[in-house]
Amino acid sequence: MVQATVVRGAAFARKSLLARKQRIAGLAASLRRREDELQPASSIEQRDRGADLEPFDVFGQLQAAEARELAEIDLALQRIASGTYGQCQVCGEAIGGLRLRAVPEARSCMGCAARL
Ligand SMILES: [Zn+2]
Repeated sequence: MVQATVVRGAAFARKSLLARKQRIAGLAASLRRREDELQPASSIEQRDRGADLEPFDVFGQLQAAEARELAEIDLALQRIASGTYGQCQVCGEAIGGLRLRAVPEARSCMGCAARL
């Protein structure tokens, strides 16, 4: 019975993680399109090196943040597949439903997250 509850929770988390993954992939694609659109304009302003570098740093940082989030989501999906989802990786205790609903990719329980 306890096992069934864990599986139901993981199935829900899996759905929301996959949905977020899709949203991030869509966002990344639209960022890349915007970056391509900006390319011709920036080569016109090539004489002003300082000014044309800045928008690309913003894109780069956004993409780095997305990549980190995608990596966390993939790790969570792996934990779901291996049956260790919802278990704190620091102390081994259950992470707790409320925290997992708020942060489905959470690796540690509230207590451990506060200590880290
Ligand atoms: Zn813990």
